[in-house]
Amino acid sequence: MSRILIVEDEVSLTKVLRRGFEAEGLRVDVAHDGNEGLRLALEQEYDAIILDVMLPGMDGHRVCSMIRAAELWTPILMLTAKDGEYDVAEGLDTGADDYLTKPFSYLILQARLRALLRRGSRGRADTVRVGDLALLPQSRRCTRLGTEIPLTAKEFDLLAALARSPGITISKGALLEEVWDLPADGDPNVVEVHVSALRRKIDQPFADRARKLLHTSRGLGYRLVPAETESA
Ligand code: CA
Repeated sequence: MSRILIVEDEVSLTKVLRRGFEAEGLRVDVAHDGNEGLRLALEQEYDAIILDVMLPGMDGHRVCSMIRAAELWTPILMLTAKDGEYDVAEGLDTGADDYLTKPFSYLILQARLRALLRRGSRGRADTVRVGDLALLPQSRRCTRLGTEIPLTAKEFDLLAALARSPGITISKGALLEEVWDLPADGDPNVVEVHVSALRRKIDQPFADRARKLLHTSRGLGYRLVPAETESA
C-alpha cells in the first residue's frame, strides 16, 4: 500500500484530498504547517509527498530543499499559487519532481501523483560514466573531473536518461515521457529549460578544461557525447 504525505494548511482542501486518496487505497498523513511537514517527511517513510508552497512556519520551497539536503529522494509534487508569483524554475531548483498550479482538478492531481508513485524509489545501480562525467544513481550525485555538481531531481533524471545511451540522440518527446511521465507530444519547453540548466552546470564551468558533453541535434533532440570520442 502506498503511503503519502500532504503538507497543506488549507484544512478544507486537505480533507477533500485525504478522502479521495484514502478511497483509492492510499495511506495518507497530513501536516498543516511547514515544520510539521518536514518533521514527518524525515521521520516517516512515504512513497510521495504533496507539498504546498505557501505554508505557515516554513514555506514549501524551504521544506523541499531541506528534505533533499537530508539525501531523501521521495518524489515531491509542489502545489503553487496561480498568480504567477511562483517561479517554476526556482521551485524545480529546490528539488521538487513536479508542480501543479492552483486551482487544479482532483483528477489531474491524481494522475500526476500516480505517475510519481509509479516511478517509485530507485533501485541500486552502479556508477554511470560518460567521459569524465560520473553519475551515481544510488546517492543521485554527479561529478565531472572530480568536482561535485549539484543537480535537481529532474536534472539528474534527464542527465541519466541521456547518459544511458551516450552518443545517441534522444528526442524531446522521448525525454518528456521518460523523465516527466508526460505524453511525447506535450510542450517541450520543460525539457528545453532543463537542458539549458544542465548546460550551465555540466559544460559551462568546465569550458576551459574539457570539451562540451551535451549536444543539440537540431530539430531532433539531444545527445551526450563522451568528450574523447567527439569529432572536432
Ligand atoms: Ca497554503
